[in-house]
Amino acid sequence: GLEALQDARIHGSTLVGPPRMRPPDAHGRPRRVAMLSVHTSPLHQPGTGDAGGMNVYIVELAKRLAAIDIEVEIFTRATSAALPPSVELAPGVLVRHVAAGPYEGLAKEDLPAQLCAFTHGVTQAWADHRPGHYDLVHSHYWLSGHVGRLAAQRWGVPLVHAMHTMAKVKNANLADGDTPEPAARVLGESQVVRAADRLIANTEKEADELLRYYDADTGRVAVVHPGVNLERFRPDARGAEAGRAAARSRLGLPQDALIPLFVGRIQPLKAPDVLLCAVARLLEERPWLRERIVVPVVGGPSGSGLARPEGLQKLAARLGISDVVLFRPPVGQERLADWYRAASVLVMPSHSESFGLVAVEAQACGTPVIAADVGGLPVAVRDGVSGVLVPGHDPADYARALCGFADDPARSARLSEAAVRHARSFGWATAAAATADVYTAALLRRGRGSRVDGSRTVGQGPLP
Ligand code: UDP
Repeated sequence: GLEALQDARIHGSTLVGPPRMRPPDAHGRPRRVAMLSVHTSPLHQPGTGDAGGMNVYIVELAKRLAAIDIEVEIFTRATSAALPPSVELAPGVLVRHVAAGPYEGLAKEDLPAQLCAFTHGVTQAWADHRPGHYDLVHSHYWLSGHVGRLAAQRWGVPLVHAMHTMAKVKNANLADGDTPEPAARVLGESQVVRAADRLIANTEKEADELLRYYDADTGRVAVVHPGVNLERFRPDARGAEAGRAAARSRLGLPQDALIPLFVGRIQPLKAPDVLLCAVARLLEERPWLRERIVVPVVGGPSGSGLARPEGLQKLAARLGISDVVLFRPPVGQERLADWYRAASVLVMPSHSESFGLVAVEAQACGTPVIAADVGGLPVAVRDGVSGVLVPGHDPADYARALCGFADDPARSARLSEAAVRHARSFGWATAAAATADVYTAALLRRGRGSRVDGSRTVGQGPLP
């Protein structure tokens, strides 16, 4: 029975045979969703390469959807010949590896050429099953959206799409040294926006951007705030202060230091350089702090290959602060929680950020945030309550904000408490329930929401 099924899944056997009897869902929700993540695998370590918040998002969302009886199969490109065709990530969540292009060394920019092969792999998985195996396609990022629109049309099921980042928004907020996103992506995104039955935006602001930049249909855009894993990211049970001391000793960090932390992929868009310049300025004004400051930068180079960490190391050297900056490779999330707990403040000076999971994770651990007032960060951080929002990217402003944390421990403690409360409003269970509602709306749009008799219409055409 179930064991054999799971076994078959893990070993990648195809599941052919008589259709499984699935009782209809009285709530009009899908039973099984094909989730598409072409360019990055949910099994990869986030914080480097092409793996970041979207990977975390997909893993956490899929697990919580499975917990409310919506099975998820995640399709991603195989990046090694050694990978099994499918892997069970959690009960009800399967990752399917699709062969498309060379296993290793395929840059994100070269992926469009492999989309046909990827689409073939996805539709093949469907062909191996009975019709109606998937009730809905949920694609992430525009490359997946392209595959999604073909798969959804072929299967006659709705397409729900999440942009995660948008070329037009990125291009309007470029950092120095950033290359603009190509016109092909802009065009591709516009096509996906038109094809999707529902678009999920992280924040109201992203929803507005979809309308303003991509002319999306208002009725098809839904806002679902991402969540944070509140079991993993939580303050130490002994309280924030005791927790900070314990985390610092586990990480070998000094107890009495000011620790402004940067976490994320090292790329111009995240502006770690602004933090380093701010620290240099702070030390010019207060040279005595040099003995009492550590600036950890946790994360690896970004997949787009724009800024290698060496660039940031060189900047630290040029600014004369190499002795206070600690570069650390990406770490698993349990360990990352300790970095958050150890920090005095998380600094996120990003030029553009669709949401900024890192900001909420830090707050969930009791660490306030200094963030740029851009994108989703004003939702992730409550200005003056759980952190500080800084307009623009002038290092002097970030230096000033850092002074506030160095000078006023009582205020830091207040912000820390409020940060935990604020972060608790972003649970994944809530995000999954809201996503399930979007699925229901998308199914209803296709006239599939009330399958009381379990019947279905297959092969509906494309959207008007
Ligand atoms: N992350 C991680 N280990 C690291 C650095 C980052 O697991 O060493 C994770 C982090 O927990 C967060 C994600 O990577 O969930 C980054 O998401 P965010 O939305 O902040 O940025 P994105 O990468 O999507 O731009």
